[in-house]
Amino acid sequence: MSEDSKGNPSKNTILMGFLRKLSQQKQAQVLTISLEKLATRFGVDETEILALFNQMKNEAYKDTFLSTPYNERIILFPQCLRNPDCEAKQDEWGYKCVDCGRCGISRIKNLAKELGYAALFIVRGGSVIEKIFAEFNPKAVIGVACNKEVFLGNLVCEKHGVVTQSVLLTKEGCYNTDVNFKQVEKCVKAIDSSILEEHNETKEGTHTKKDTN
Ligand code: SF4
Repeated sequence: MSEDSKGNPSKNTILMGFLRKLSQQKQAQVLTISLEKLATRFGVDETEILALFNQMKNEAYKDTFLSTPYNERIILFPQCLRNPDCEAKQDEWGYKCVDCGRCGISRIKNLAKELGYAALFIVRGGSVIEKIFAEFNPKAVIGVACNKEVFLGNLVCEKHGVVTQSVLLTKEGCYNTDVNFKQVEKCVKAIDSSILEEHNETKEGTHTKKDTN
């Protein structure tokens, strides 16, 4: 536990303790309101707290994520990351990329298929995540989103015992957003070397459990 010069818990430690308790609660809306109140109380920017929490979650789950085989992972992209002229079709899971090549999702989609990821989704909103978990039962998720959506998504994952790694958008908003696709690619490829050896030994081809992306 980090302490200030008088031996008291630091502001970050207090915040993190509060956020850990918060993450165990179920109602996301109540949580975000609590978070906003917390931010006001400490006189800090709400996004700073969110970023801290999301960073903490990435660190906490890094090793477990790396030990999770590719075929037990899924990837979630936000629909706002698509190019404005995106030609993707919609289905029950969100958008289905048709490889027009106007954004980086197509490249990640093909990489994930090659590695044997269980599925990749371009979601219209967070509400479909519970349905995805029920259908695909992933052990780990890579979530690409803004700070707030990653925070909320992390809470859903926590509830379902799913390990997460997030990559934050570099340009937020509800339209024409952006992310460092190299960072996403690095996260998609990342795996413990012993798991990779097993994976290469048993790999018989690439597939997805269902027809998603
Ligand atoms: S690459 Fe896929 S997701 Fe990106 S704009 Fe084209 S169809 Fe849409």
